[in-house]
Amino acid sequence: MRPLTMAFTIALASIALSSRTRARDPLRIGVLAGLAAPGSPDAAPCPKGTLPDGNVCVHLPGSEEGGEDAPVVAGSHFERSGRYAIYDQIPRRPDRPADYDLYRYPIPPFLAGGHTVLSGYDLDRPDRSQRRGLTIRAVGHGGVDLPAPKGTPIALVALEHQQGDADVVYVGKWAGTTIFLRQTVREAGQLRDYLVMFGHLDHVAPGIVVGARVHEGDVIGFVGDTGSPELVHLHYETRRVRDGVDLAGKTASQMTDGSVSVVCDPRNVLPLKDEK
Ligand SMILES: [Zn+2]
Repeated sequence: MRPLTMAFTIALASIALSSRTRARDPLRIGVLAGLAAPGSPDAAPCPKGTLPDGNVCVHLPGSEEGGEDAPVVAGSHFERSGRYAIYDQIPRRPDRPADYDLYRYPIPPFLAGGHTVLSGYDLDRPDRSQRRGLTIRAVGHGGVDLPAPKGTPIALVALEHQQGDADVVYVGKWAGTTIFLRQTVREAGQLRDYLVMFGHLDHVAPGIVVGARVHEGDVIGFVGDTGSPELVHLHYETRRVRDGVDLAGKTASQMTDGSVSVVCDPRNVLPLKDEK
């Protein structure tokens, strides 16, 4: 353990002891609720390599963990109930760069240093490194969080090797106001459907209804904080639809069920900046 991590762990352990949470592991990173928005000067301290996001500290893109932090069992964590769950997920492929800044996103960068991603995909991390708050309400993060001013337009990014347009398959409540798209890519010689989710929208753009087709660059909605009050950001998540499954006619909860789609590191399908 690095000295800084050790010091912070001790500090957090005392916070955990004084709280009524059921913290199982003092290494879990939590900060007190009621934080200022991420990136603001009032934000509570988080350890080096992380930023506050709501009541959790999240790993900065590119902050590498090694040694004892290396994943032991990928795709597993303690659920909020305390149950240890191992689930399907598709981690980043080794041929895809780890650096989030090398990819194109549906909104421009608004973080200091030209970064776009505040909070990355962490389901491939060891349990204790996945994001969670003191209340352990949120466990793990299957997408990327892109902070932006409220009302920022969200423009569709075609996935790498995408075939055809995107289809709107759901508009409604999920992570706040959310749009689900189906985007089909050619992957290893076959066509695969991806479910791509845009969460916490302030509102949806005109014409974005189930069945609409969306092209690269089309504005589909606007960044907001629905379902994440005062934490204005876009939650962007990709899930690979299981082979042979048709999303048509399915509800949001059916589409995100593990029998229909599998959560996937977005870096596997997002286009790189120097490609078009
Ligand atoms: Zn998110």
